[in-house]
Amino acid sequence: MIGIGKIKPEKIRKEKTDWNQFLCGTPAKDYIFQNTPYEEQIKNAAELIREADFILIGAGAGASSAAGLMYSGKRFTDNFAEFIDKYGAANMRDMYSAGFYPFPTEEAKWGYWSKHSMINRILPPALPLYRQLYELVKDKDYFVITTNVDHQFYKAGFASDRIFATQGDYGLIQCEKGCHQKTYDAQEMFRQMDTERKDCLVPSYLVPKCPVCGGNMAMNLRCDGYFVEDESWHSAAESYGEFLQNMKGKKGVLLELGVGFNTPVIIRFPFEKMARGNKDLSLIRLNLNEAVVPAGLNERAVGINCDMAEAVSDLCDITRSEEGKSL
Ligand SMILES: [Zn+2]
Repeated sequence: MIGIGKIKPEKIRKEKTDWNQFLCGTPAKDYIFQNTPYEEQIKNAAELIREADFILIGAGAGASSAAGLMYSGKRFTDNFAEFIDKYGAANMRDMYSAGFYPFPTEEAKWGYWSKHSMINRILPPALPLYRQLYELVKDKDYFVITTNVDHQFYKAGFASDRIFATQGDYGLIQCEKGCHQKTYDAQEMFRQMDTERKDCLVPSYLVPKCPVCGGNMAMNLRCDGYFVEDESWHSAAESYGEFLQNMKGKKGVLLELGVGFNTPVIIRFPFEKMARGNKDLSLIRLNLNEAVVPAGLNERAVGINCDMAEAVSDLCDITRSEEGKSL
């Protein structure tokens, strides 16, 4: 907003600006779907990864749904049948919207969230897509920034001091009003709730209370103004900052996975901005439907519009076979 006071009002009205331009500086018309054949794109992406000194992974919701943690369809109706019956299909459309349902009691709220955490955070093992991603970058200097809260990067072997999960964790709870900046591991509590839940409700004695103010607790998810950024959140944020500082003068790849337009200001737009401002950086964008890339990045951008599980698996295969050749 600096200097906006100097712009004459008529100038502002004439500017054809939209939200895309405002947030990321690239006008929507400058985005392109690359028409390079898929095989060639994978080859180009593998080459960029091979030549890179470091890889910065940015992962959004699309990565986990491609990995198998789908929030809608059969996976939802199979696991949440009881909740759909009780609260109605119109209110329980998928695991995303169900989380926003105004549960009438704490027993009902934790009845739902304990199930959600079991299904998406506690029970799933490290999924193949995440394990392959780890294989792809483990010998590089890497860092992960993710809006996902399902802990998959940790499970797949990525070093915990190289992950910044900005939006919380399904395994943690906090004071609902954020009265103190601390989170609590709730996995054991959720397991117990899962065995004792009846008619979608947990027994009252299992309902957690804030140890400081005595009020209600909530999931540690950034969904309102009370999100708690605890000590480890701050230390991860700091590590991310340091990683960005240290990448200056080195060749790197920004590997963006399944980041749409829900919260593009955390990964998608900053990655584009970094790539535009630094010729040593390339952007590999994997996205099922939205793999458009800024045209100006030319061969420094690869936008692969396809099933990510397949693309990551192909990237792993080609990288492995190239390694074999160089031995
Ligand atoms: Zn409190």
